[in-house]
Amino acid sequence: MSKLQPVRGTRDIYGAEARNMAAVVETFRRVAGSYGFEDIATPIFEFTEVYKRPLGEASDIVSKEMYTFEDRGGEDITLRPEFTAGVCRSFISEGMQQNLPCRLMSNGPAFRYERPQKGRYRQFHQINAELLGQDAPEADVDIIAMAWRLLGELGLADKVVLELNTLGDKESRATYRETLVRYFEDHKGGLSEDSLRRLSSNPLRILDSKDDADKKIVATAPLMSDCLNEASRSFFERVKAGLEAVGVPYVHNERLVRGMDYYTHTAFEFVTTELGAQGTVLAGGRYDGLIEQLGGPATPGIGWAGGIERLAMLSKAGKTPARPIIIMPMGEAATLKAFEIAEDLRGIGAIVTSDRGGNLKKRLNRANKARARFAVIIGEDELSGGVVTLKDLDNGEQRQVSFADLAHSVKAGV
Ligand code: ATP
Ligand code: MG
Repeated sequence: MSKLQPVRGTRDIYGAEARNMAAVVETFRRVAGSYGFEDIATPIFEFTEVYKRPLGEASDIVSKEMYTFEDRGGEDITLRPEFTAGVCRSFISEGMQQNLPCRLMSNGPAFRYERPQKGRYRQFHQINAELLGQDAPEADVDIIAMAWRLLGELGLADKVVLELNTLGDKESRATYRETLVRYFEDHKGGLSEDSLRRLSSNPLRILDSKDDADKKIVATAPLMSDCLNEASRSFFERVKAGLEAVGVPYVHNERLVRGMDYYTHTAFEFVTTELGAQGTVLAGGRYDGLIEQLGGPATPGIGWAGGIERLAMLSKAGKTPARPIIIMPMGEAATLKAFEIAEDLRGIGAIVTSDRGGNLKKRLNRANKARARFAVIIGEDELSGGVVTLKDLDNGEQRQVSFADLAHSVKAGV
């Protein structure tokens, strides 16, 4: 039977969890819409190069997490591990630079080969926002404010903290990289194997290491803020001033780096202590070189992605659907009339299902289990009299209502 289980790291999503996840997406689309974002849906797979180049060979995603395969035509294909690179590829393919700025929102599954645990899956889901074509730090403020509003509307303002950092521009980052490499070279003996490898490929990632020995060395490592050039420093000051003006609380976390190579300047994460090791619910940053690196016109960009599963687990924002009305036709002629009645009731916004099986007692039992509000019973007598029996399942009372008055009675009662 093991074949009937979903593949490790994938899950069936239904019931309350499905409702909670849908609520995250709905809230996201409404909030992002109010900031002028419009939908974009890019393919769920791309040529591998689309992810490999911008994310960098040394990133966790490219080095060990991507679902990459050769398709039947011999193309090198990768399932979307994140949205940004695909959206930027689309920006280039579709010539969107004619219409800047672009505010693009998406949501859907992403795929990473990781060790599955609560809040970490191999197929998971993200909401994603990208703002392309604005290089001023105020754009960073806009997009972070949008995330903050979303988290607020999901009821999470007290559960998350915004951690903010700057990675500086290219020049500052290069200076920092050199400084760090020099420092870590001096402490080489204490570094984990993973970090020794990162030392040549991606030294900034060492700052993010979960290894205890690494952490000790990292604690006294030089700070990015000491390597920032004037332009990067003032950029960061303007981001912070904007956040204060718009009322988004943050903490400056000097150790915050992001896993992908493409980030510059602002990097941020909204984290919670309520999900164990899977504490980052939404994260992003600025990526001014990415579109150019993909072969497009130099275009600045900033964006973020939120993990829908983690946001849903924290917020439980899904609403149980309204209580249904159940139509119970007794006999063939009533069954046909019931179709018409059901459609009328749906027309006024009610949730309506039909129960055509078994005796009335059984049907009423099922209706109670289904938390139904009313039963609409249509027997031969009712049919010939042009009425239905409307049963209030809360108090058990029932009365006859004409076909014409039914919608009105139900509306008044629900
Ligand atoms: P983490 O540090 O938890 O691995 P990340 O830095 O790899 O996260 P991002 O690439 O920034 O994550 O993705 C944005 C968000 O997507 C994360 O903050 C998280 O909420 C969610 N996410 C990332 N990977 C997974 C996963 N494997 N399962 C569920 N959610 C995920
Ligand atoms: Mg990860």
